[in-house]
Amino acid sequence: MDLRSPEAFWLLKNGILNSYPKLQENTFCDIIVLGAGITGALISHSLQEAGYNVIVIDKRDVANGSSAATTSMLQYEIDVPMVDLADMIGIPGAVECYKAGIDSIDTLHELVKTEKIECGFDFKESLQVAHSKKEVKHLRKEFEMRQQNNFDVAWLSSEEIKERYKMESYPGILSKKGASIDAFQFAHGLFYNNHKKGMRIFDHTEVNDIDYNNDGVVVKTDDGYTVEAKKIVFCTGFETLKMFKKKYADIVTTFACVSEQNFNFFETLNNTLVWDTANPYIYMRTTDDKRLLVGGEDIKYKYGIISEKIKKQKSAKLAKKLKKLFPELNFIEDYVWAGAFGVTKDGLPFIGEHPDFKNAIFVLGLGGNGITFSVQGMDLILKMLAGYTDSLLHYYRFDR
Ligand SMILES: Cc1cc2nc3c(=O)[nH]c(=O)nc-3n(C[C@H](O)[C@H](O)[C@H](O)COP(=O)(O)OP(=O)(O)OC[C@H]3O[C@@H](n4cnc5c(N)ncnc54)[C@H](O)[C@@H]3O)c2cc1C
Repeated sequence: MDLRSPEAFWLLKNGILNSYPKLQENTFCDIIVLGAGITGALISHSLQEAGYNVIVIDKRDVANGSSAATTSMLQYEIDVPMVDLADMIGIPGAVECYKAGIDSIDTLHELVKTEKIECGFDFKESLQVAHSKKEVKHLRKEFEMRQQNNFDVAWLSSEEIKERYKMESYPGILSKKGASIDAFQFAHGLFYNNHKKGMRIFDHTEVNDIDYNNDGVVVKTDDGYTVEAKKIVFCTGFETLKMFKKKYADIVTTFACVSEQNFNFFETLNNTLVWDTANPYIYMRTTDDKRLLVGGEDIKYKYGIISEKIKKQKSAKLAKKLKKLFPELNFIEDYVWAGAFGVTKDGLPFIGEHPDFKNAIFVLGLGGNGITFSVQGMDLILKMLAGYTDSLLHYYRFDR
């Protein structure tokens, strides 16, 4: 399965920061973390800190799946508005899931600081504007629910938006809490630190054969070596979905492009993540190297590499939408890429055990908030292993 087009921006920007050996012997550990993207980086860190002996395995280089393609906007607002999520799981549940997003932004910030990882982490505000006049009413309801539940939000009129951001739009919600990060750099940095502390990491090592037994698991690599462990944690991203008989999420391909450096609107947009209520929505953020990153234009996932022609069409559409929102803006595209993306009906991830796989735990941060969900996985995994439960595990369970 192609998780992204070949030239994902973060890989081009950073290069392969660290390589690890391929597994070349039979071995054992407490817990295997399969997948070395940002989820695997966070989960293996949490497990190692808690004293577990962890082995991380990936068939690609570290962070070379979706984590090389992500636009890495860190938002507590998930793809499904709180008012709609409340209809599905009740107001307390929707509020709890949104609040968990706020906590994860802070948790990630702490981790960046304590681990001293250079990854362009920046706190930002998040502005969501109505895509059409018709959608203003629903967005206003969303604003009121968030305000009633003590979220730090403000309602901005079209005039206020124009004055602050030089942006032509319908009204919107400004949330105080948000951030952005270079997820590729972060994942590499965290793996590097933990490797120095003894974590065993193997890249270019594919696992296709797993024996799930009463005592644990035995995984077999493509070279025929085995790793025995008490548990396996799947941090295998959207590719994991093909393991299940049931369809838990739709897969779409989403497109993103970045401007040249020293982007002319950098100061206007630097502190704000911007997105709208369209489906699919357009979203944008600046990067730490002074570019504007714009994404959206999702289509149903198709196997095979996305052609240059489609990428060009999609980036032209994104540029046109951008121009409508910011008539004064001169966006000169530098790179465009595409990546796969899993969409769940309620916008929530799947974190937990699955009845078909004994001694396995899944941390699948699906949707547009995959990263904040994976951060939540760090605490949830320890609770699961210790036999405790958590209300988030109820909302993120497979049989919901
Ligand atoms: C264009 C785009 C924009 C996005 N924007 C945002 C955003 O703004 N904010 C946000 O929070 N999220 C966003 N996401 C989602 C986010 O990128 C993902 O949630 C996140 O990167 C997933 O990380 P991961 O580690 O779970 O998966 P991945 O990075 O895909 O890592 C999974 C790893 O598992 C490995 N693997 C799989 N199967 C095997 C196997 N059998 N053997 C060995 N290794 C295996 C793969 O090689 C891969 O490296 C976006 C995604 C895309 C594509």
